[in-house]
Amino acid sequence: MDNFRFYVPTDIRFGQDRLASELTEVLDTYGKNVLLVYGGGSIKKNGLYDQIINLLEGNQHTIVELSGVEPNPRIETVRRGVALCREHQIDVILAVGGGSTIDCSKVIAAGVFSEEDPWEIILGRKGYQGEALPIVTILTLAATGSEMNSGAVISNLETNQKLGVGGPAMMPKVSFLDPANTFTVPAYQTAAGSADILSHLFESYFNVTAGTDVQDFVSEGLMRSVIKHCPIALKEPDNYDSRANLMWASSLALNGLTRNGKHGVWSCHAMEHELSAFYDITHGIGLAILTPRWMAYVLSEQTVNKFAQFAKNVWDITEADKMKAAKQGIQATYDYFKACGIPMTLPEVGIDAEKFTEMAKQAVAHSTIKTSAFVPLSETDVENIYQECLTESDFI
Ligand code: NAP
Ligand code: FE
Repeated sequence: MDNFRFYVPTDIRFGQDRLASELTEVLDTYGKNVLLVYGGGSIKKNGLYDQIINLLEGNQHTIVELSGVEPNPRIETVRRGVALCREHQIDVILAVGGGSTIDCSKVIAAGVFSEEDPWEIILGRKGYQGEALPIVTILTLAATGSEMNSGAVISNLETNQKLGVGGPAMMPKVSFLDPANTFTVPAYQTAAGSADILSHLFESYFNVTAGTDVQDFVSEGLMRSVIKHCPIALKEPDNYDSRANLMWASSLALNGLTRNGKHGVWSCHAMEHELSAFYDITHGIGLAILTPRWMAYVLSEQTVNKFAQFAKNVWDITEADKMKAAKQGIQATYDYFKACGIPMTLPEVGIDAEKFTEMAKQAVAHSTIKTSAFVPLSETDVENIYQECLTESDFI
């Protein structure tokens, strides 16, 4: 296990009916001028918007709104947010939504303190060390873990780039996690969000660092929880306990708990970000399509032990032959995503082979998967994996 520091100061307020008694007090810690950031309107349909406005107005907060944050949030929206913060001397950002709204808010919060265009912060990549406005989140979709980490992913459709950035000041100060706020998440987004949570776990689990049983066994438990509860939430959208398990898994899957102490970069996210950058597809869906193909591609005598462990501990596969067990585990992963209603080929989400070469090039250029992934991937490897996603797969 590598050395690490685990410092996750986000104050998590988990559970039902906390906003009425806690939200304004939390915001008052930072000031009265609030930038309320949200997406395309789901919070207006489910009543959350009205509840928040009533609470804030009742407490003499000044509310400035930034609405319409896109899934795969765009740099133009970040720029609008920075301008609003400056114009209205915003004290605190209240992000209400999923990962897109929270990520957009993080870069706005940092952008206010930068003389440069916010895209320069993104191009600076992982290490933003500057200041940021305080961020409070109300999470409405279990997926990214953005509610409890310091990362953000922003798209620039002009340049076909979707890049991640992160920094300690971008970590939310307080996150309200009420599972009931996810009852209205549609089936497609519930499945996509669950696939994203699983992918965050897979990406660190399949890793070369030795001696990480704690991270790996915690990870297997989180995977099993998501695998159990996503289908229940799909059938019963208002099943509180299933929504609660998905929500808490979302935060724990990407707050460092299962990743710290390991080194190396992620593979599927690097490949998926190009699909989203070029075709603006739903992140979790792209990951679900890529993951089993990537697993099969990197399975070898060198990696078989970890895949056999995954098959046994996550999918309860009892096959004694490790290679056979590994393949069954990969098949189980594929079948599971399919059973959750996820389209499992790229053409189903509008992607053909036309830009594979270009996207593969970018995936390698934008990350270090060629040198420090679980199994290093060249441009040709990435292109081969994209190719595998053109048709249905059988791994056994
Ligand atoms: P999202 O893009 O925030 O939201 C997806 C869709 O779900 C939106 O159309 C949204 O509608 C809807 N939605 C959200 N909550 C809802 C609710 N309660 N009821 C009904 N509809 C609801 O999805 P996400 O998966 O959370 O975020 C994806 C983004 O995060 C991607 O850009 C991805 O790359 C990034 N990401 C970030 C991290 C990180 O650590 N920061 C990690 C992984 C991925 P409205 O817009 O109308 O609200
Ligand atoms: Fe993700």
